Amino acid sequence: MAKTPYVDQDACISCGLCVEMAPEVFRMDAEDLAEVYAPTGASEQSIQEAMDACPVSCIHWQE
Ligand code: SF4
Repeated sequence: MAKTPYVDQDACISCGLCVEMAPEVFRMDAEDLAEVYAPTGASEQSIQEAMDACPVSCIHWQE
């Protein structure tokens, strides 16, 4: 089964980097916290890059 990314919103600092890097997967919600709206919207590699770039490392894989 494909890996699914999710955002730990308790840790998100709303920097917007993941949305900038993979707008096909992440967006800011009504509370200005990042959320995954399309878990398969980009390649795992692109998602991994956004994950690695998150300054508080709050994007994770759920398998
Ligand atoms: Fe939140 Fe991390 Fe995305 Fe920044 S990169 S908006 S801290 S999930």
